[in-house]
Amino acid sequence: MTCAARPTATAFMTKQFKNRRILIVDDNEAIHADIRSILEPPRVNAELDSLSAALFDDAIPVSSHAVKYDIESAYQGEDGFNMVCQANAAGNPYALAIVDVRMPPGWDGIHTIQELKRLDPLLQVAICTAYSDYSWQTILDKFGINDWLLILKKPFDVVEVKQLACSLTEKWNLSKWVAMRTVELEQSLEEHAQKLEIANGKLKEQVQSLADANTHLSREMEARREADERIRHIAFHDALTGLPNRMLLSDRINECIERSKRQQDYHFALLYCDLDNFKIVNDSLGHRVGDQLLTHIAERLRHALRTTTRDIRGGYDVVSRLSGDEFVVLLDNIIGEEHAMQIADRIREVVCQTVKIDQNELLPSISIGVAISNGEYDDATDMLRDADTALYHAKDLGKCCVSMFDLNMRTQVTHRMNLESDLRRAIEEDQFIVYYQPIVSLITGEIVSLEALVRWQHPVQGLLSPDAFISVAEETGMIDAIGESVFRQALDQVGHWRNTLSEARDLSVSINLSPRQLRNRRIVNLIDECLHNHNFDPSALKLEITESAMMTDLAMVREIIEDISARGIEFYLDDFGTGYSSLSILHTLPFSTIKLDRSFVSNLDKELESPTTVQAIVMLAKNGGVKLVAEGIETYEQLCQLRELDCELGQGYFFSKPLPKRDIEDLLRKGTRHLVQVETNAPITASI
Ligand code: C2E
Ligand code: CA
Ligand code: CA
Repeated sequence: MTCAARPTATAFMTKQFKNRRILIVDDNEAIHADIRSILEPPRVNAELDSLSAALFDDAIPVSSHAVKYDIESAYQGEDGFNMVCQANAAGNPYALAIVDVRMPPGWDGIHTIQELKRLDPLLQVAICTAYSDYSWQTILDKFGINDWLLILKKPFDVVEVKQLACSLTEKWNLSKWVAMRTVELEQSLEEHAQKLEIANGKLKEQVQSLADANTHLSREMEARREADERIRHIAFHDALTGLPNRMLLSDRINECIERSKRQQDYHFALLYCDLDNFKIVNDSLGHRVGDQLLTHIAERLRHALRTTTRDIRGGYDVVSRLSGDEFVVLLDNIIGEEHAMQIADRIREVVCQTVKIDQNELLPSISIGVAISNGEYDDATDMLRDADTALYHAKDLGKCCVSMFDLNMRTQVTHRMNLESDLRRAIEEDQFIVYYQPIVSLITGEIVSLEALVRWQHPVQGLLSPDAFISVAEETGMIDAIGESVFRQALDQVGHWRNTLSEARDLSVSINLSPRQLRNRRIVNLIDECLHNHNFDPSALKLEITESAMMTDLAMVREIIEDISARGIEFYLDDFGTGYSSLSILHTLPFSTIKLDRSFVSNLDKELESPTTVQAIVMLAKNGGVKLVAEGIETYEQLCQLRELDCELGQGYFFSKPLPKRDIEDLLRKGTRHLVQVETNAPITASI
């Protein structure tokens, strides 16, 4: 048996690997012989075994049921100790030592056993003793209670020796197996533990990566939730002011409409607010300042609502921005119209206070249209439309006004909508014609020029004057097409008169330009084209513009005016005295002529206007090298006064009302010189 031949504890328990090595340590040779004779098979059996094995391949040995021991002998304790040492070193240990108690002269049995056990704790021991040797108690005292020591009393009983040898070697094998198995189990346990540890590590890694993934997912979900919220916020709020937008407002209005249908005593109102002249701020100071102003207004609106009686009402108001400078306030749970008007006034007060943006001190003002719930609204759009209509009306009243919606306004809106669509058709069907009104020299009575004044030949309403449609045409941009038609007709007609009538050889024509037309370079091309097509002398063309044309986009307007002037075309400053009337404008832009508004003239003879004002204007004009046309001369007295004030040119019903081309042709032929003849008698009235 060798250690190398014992791969596992299980294999170790097979017969082949069992350790039956016995060491007899006894000084008495006879004892060795005795024990061997008991434990070793009789020679005859061994001989029979080898004989039958030689004869028969499959012979069963005679001694097959006997236990075979490998017995070695030592005659002194020290020898035994050395042999155990060597056997252990060779990996071939003894299973059992049978040790005599008395072995003079060397170690006695007790000492020998102690030494052997120190060497090999697994070694089983049988101590041979005579009755007179140590008592059991003494042996117990020496070795303590144990399971490896048996006492073999001399003289030997054969069975006892056999039993002892068999049991103790068997026990050694079992103990060895247990030890090996324990090691194996420990190893496998360790392996399992390692595997478990690895698995545990992996599990931990997986748990960690799961936790990481979870954190990542939660972060992503949080980011997504935030993004969703942002998107929702963007969808329902205005980017500049952060106020609710039209969509959110409409939702709230619809909720209030529903409530007003369920609850008779519940009322709410919409305040449609619009800044006055915001476009001027935007155009003259730039969009950045415009945006800042809007942000201030939004804050003021919020503030105005906080300082109203909101708490008493317990309502949930909404301030929203619809677009540009349009804000809508929803007043929830109000008492009635008067209450809504009070809050509107409060808003006006709060908004209309100076605000400083950069270096600019601005005084914003706001117009407000109010609509009150009436139980009949079905949709937010309807109510917003009515509040907008009321706003439109407020704007008509002037700056910074509040107007409450009533049904008549809806009629006006319908009228305006019809007007717009009629105008569109009129442009398509070319329903515009030009009337002319002479501008006369107050000294000679000569017609020096004609002012072209547009008329609309309406298919149903007949001839309409510009007051009925010009402002709408301007707002909607249709003035461009109308203006173009006037240009073509006027240059064609006056060009024709200049070429065919001797009285009209030096006749010029003045054409009115609306502010909008001066903000588009197309006008320059149109003028070039008309001059060219009608071979018209540019110096015979005058363009009339009012001061309001210069209120916005001044840089662009100036550029266009200078461009047109460079062609030899003169500019008249129309309606002078009605607007801001600053003569300084005459120095900044190339005006050749001022047209004094007819309010000055009509008030002259009513003595409402002091002649000195007109005289001062005449003087200033003269000093500035600018001509003056007095508009709206209706009476001979006015003519005389103006002549006295040294005014050179005039226009008005006294000379002629605006007339269609056929009548003007007659007038040109006939002339108006006779009208300015100084007569001594009663006042002369106009000829037409
Ligand atoms: P405006 O340029 O001041 O034209 C003079 C207006 O005063 C004309 O009104 C004329 O009929 C009126 N008028 C002239 N003399 C007298 C008078 O003695 N007494 C009274 N009470 N009125 C007098 P109309 O033709 O109704 O034109 C009104 C305004 O429409 C014009 O005022 C002008 O601003 C605008 N307009 C007329 N034609 C055009 C056009 O072709 N283009 C543009 N953009 N505007 C035009
Ligand atoms: Ca005019
Ligand atoms: Ca005028």
